[in-house]
Amino acid sequence: MQLYKEQTLKITNSLTGKKDVFKPINEGHIGMYVCGPTVYSNVHLGNCRTFMSFDMIFRYLRHLDYKVRYVRNITDAGHLVDDADEGEDKIAKKARLEKIEPMEVVQRYTVDFHKILEQFNFLPPSIEPTATGHIIEQLEIIKEILQKGYAYEVNGSVYFDVKKFNERFEYGKLSGRKLEDMIANTRELTAQSEKRSPQDFALWKKAEPQHIMRWPSPWGDGFPGWHLECTAMSTKYLGETFDIHGGGMDLKFPHHECEIAQAEASNGHSPVNYWLHANMLTLNGKKMAKSTGNNILPGEIFSGENTILSKPFTPSVVRFFMMQAHYTSILDLSNDALLASEKGYHRLMDAIDSLKDLPTGKKSDFNISEWRQKCYEAMNDDFNTPILIANLFEAVKHINLIKEGKESVSESDKELLQKTINDFVFEVLGLEDKRESGQDSDTLQRVVELLIQLRNEARTNKDFATSDKIRDQLVAMGIQLKDGKDGTTFSIS
Ligand SMILES: [Zn+2]
Repeated sequence: MQLYKEQTLKITNSLTGKKDVFKPINEGHIGMYVCGPTVYSNVHLGNCRTFMSFDMIFRYLRHLDYKVRYVRNITDAGHLVDDADEGEDKIAKKARLEKIEPMEVVQRYTVDFHKILEQFNFLPPSIEPTATGHIIEQLEIIKEILQKGYAYEVNGSVYFDVKKFNERFEYGKLSGRKLEDMIANTRELTAQSEKRSPQDFALWKKAEPQHIMRWPSPWGDGFPGWHLECTAMSTKYLGETFDIHGGGMDLKFPHHECEIAQAEASNGHSPVNYWLHANMLTLNGKKMAKSTGNNILPGEIFSGENTILSKPFTPSVVRFFMMQAHYTSILDLSNDALLASEKGYHRLMDAIDSLKDLPTGKKSDFNISEWRQKCYEAMNDDFNTPILIANLFEAVKHINLIKEGKESVSESDKELLQKTINDFVFEVLGLEDKRESGQDSDTLQRVVELLIQLRNEARTNKDFATSDKIRDQLVAMGIQLKDGKDGTTFSIS
């Protein structure tokens, strides 16, 4: 029997504001859409936390034997610098600054995004569609919305008419806002604005002559508005109504609100049954922002090349750290928090490691079946990973007592314990046993230092063929050398 038939899953639904019992549209199948990254810079650690929350959710749904179609898009056009439909396209801007093609920007940062997610042991989504690959679908939705009278064209751009929409539907139901309040709290439109009302948003923007990313449309050359791509891709791959839509808390308004409006305007009904929002990550108690320097990239945590943390931390430790908080709570990253997580991660992995050699004997007082169900209950309660981890440490305590001969475990209980650990630690939380043995890393350190010494000798002797060969081969193994005035240092990625 499928596990989902035995478990009752409850999910915090932003649409109802409550924990709702989860029931998919088609029994045994789930359609899930998560707003992916805009690929114009290295993936932000806060975004990694959001995607990791949905990776964990995807993993648990699969563990419950659901067949999940998980769609996570790549935004490679249409996301403007200014959220009020003005300013440059984020990707085009980066391309202009770096004097490369927009698609080179997209390629570079899509590769970076995948590399980081792989290091964090993410499962790939079922489909990863791009905005530029779905221009035709987006044009079709605009035509539909225009035809139904919920949009208007001005000078080659098409805008969604929020007031008109709100006469029949409800704009603001996801974020709990009322259109009247929004109107009362916004400034008047500037004279040059083409919008009828400040709440209106672009479905299609006319491309100025210098705009590189442009496509032909019935209204002239232009590009799609950012909110539209998610409606087009989710509808195409999951249908007009699907089960779960996720994203970061910051996307609830206006992005997700606009997605709902677009779908309702074009096909008349609500697109999503359960809206899930993951909370943000702060750094040392403050919002992460490149502009203030309170920022750290995943790669900088793994390599230790940063001024914020005292040492490098592995992706597994960072993943464990993130899983220790509930996905709807704000999580603060700091050196102390990561050190504590590293300790906890090692304690957990050490206990799991000792599990296979655990002596068996008479039945334990520790009720393994009850404990296993407690693990499910934690996850069934809106994917409560901190409670799950607390339960796992309950088992660690017993494993250690059994190891010391102070408790015993029967053969069948030991098997169930092993299976449960495997299910929840590796399958659901997605952790990996990647403990670095101190001796191995010391040896590696010494070998790399020896190679650096040989390379420097070769350079002194003007044998650049040898020095370049050493450097290039180290780079191929993921070891970067950095020459500074105090000598050569290295980092392992
Ligand atoms: Zn989206």
